[in-house]
Order: sequence, then structure tokens, then C-alpha cells
Amino acid sequence: MDDVDLVIPSLRRIYQRLLRALGPQQWWPAKSSFEVMVGALLTQNTAWSNVEQAIGQLTRARALSPKALARARPTRLQRLIRSSGYFRQKAAVVQGFSRWYLSRYRGSPRMMFRVPLETLRRELLAVKGIGPETADSILLYAGRQPIVVIDAYTRRIFRRHHLIEGGESYDQLQRFVTQRLPRDVQLYNEFHALLVAVGKRYCRRRDPHCAACPLGVFPHQGER
Ligand code: SF4
Repeated sequence: MDDVDLVIPSLRRIYQRLLRALGPQQWWPAKSSFEVMVGALLTQNTAWSNVEQAIGQLTRARALSPKALARARPTRLQRLIRSSGYFRQKAAVVQGFSRWYLSRYRGSPRMMFRVPLETLRRELLAVKGIGPETADSILLYAGRQPIVVIDAYTRRIFRRHHLIEGGESYDQLQRFVTQRLPRDVQLYNEFHALLVAVGKRYCRRRDPHCAACPLGVFPHQGER
């Protein structure tokens, strides 16, 4: 990787270019921190528009609260979140998380996000169905904690721009970003949101649109 260090862009340059081209992404679109948490649980392996539908259903059914979700009948919950896909599995995860959140933090974001970041991250990762990307999304977007979120788009964009090999673990990629950007909640928030925007609009798995992409000015290998 050292051989190409002189030609690959820094993360700061990537961030600045994306912010200039695409503007602030206003993440996370939600009315409460609990809504962010539920959105983070539902968004795994599905498009955000499907999550929005599920959140809308929960809201209209007055079920978008830790207590309501903890008590809901599984079949009702599955019906309400059906649009988000994998609805049986996700209903169990959302309910398990809500019960944990109530028993551990009485459903209070203030209590929860008072806990030191690393401790809370470990607790979240111990909740069934929560992996690193979901835990970090909850910490960053619901709790405004300074932690970097990594997803498949980040990996693809970084690999295509020769920043990484591609086979790195989640933790390695997170360290890679953390070591290269200032520890800043708003920066982490915007950087991840911008990478997601690029991934969705341009950096598709097949047939990336490099000619139109704001990162097309940097050396890349879009065809891989
Ligand atoms: S679409 Fe092309 S230029 Fe844009 S991020 Fe992907 S590889 Fe880079």
C-alpha cells in the first residue's frame, strides 16, 4: 500500500470532495433517539425506503416505544415491520433489544449514553442480533458518540480507491478511518452518510458510474 500512498487521496480529501459535491446528508432522519435505534436494527440488508415504511407502520400503530415493542405480540410486530424484510428475525431482534433497553436503562437514552463508549459498545454487541455496524450506528447516530461506522459501501469504495486490500476485518477498517480523521462526531456522522450516498448513486457492485461520481477524479479501479 505504501507504493501508492503518493497517489491515493487522503480520507480528508475524499470527505471534503464529497461534502462539496453532495452537501450535508442530514443523518439520521428520525424524530427520537429510540427511532434511530429501531431504524438501525431494521436497516440491515434492506433499502432505507423499506425501513421508513416499517417505522411509519409502527408509529401509526403507536408501537414505536420500548414498552410497546417489548410487550407486542410477535405476529403483530412481524406484520408491522414486514416491509423491512427478514421480518420474523428482525421482530425478534427489535423486541429483544427493547426488553434489554428497558431492563438495563429503563428505556432512557440519557442513562444509556452516559455509560463509557467502549463499555456500552460491548453491551450492545452482546444483545442478540446486533453486530458491529448496528452497534456503531446506534452509538453514533442515536447517542452522538465519537465512533466510526463501517459498511459494505465503505469497504467497496476504499478498495476501489486503493486505500485498502478489501479483506480487512470490521475492526481493522474502523481503526483505519479512526487513525486518519479527527475524533469528531459530526465529521463521522457526515462521512459515513456521504459514503452511503456515493455507494447508492454511483459505486454499485456491478457497473459503477465513475464518470459521474465526485470521486472519479481520484485514481480508482471501478471495474473490480
Ligand atoms: S463509482 Fe468509481 S469513482 Fe465513484 S467511488 Fe466508486 S470506484 Fe470511485
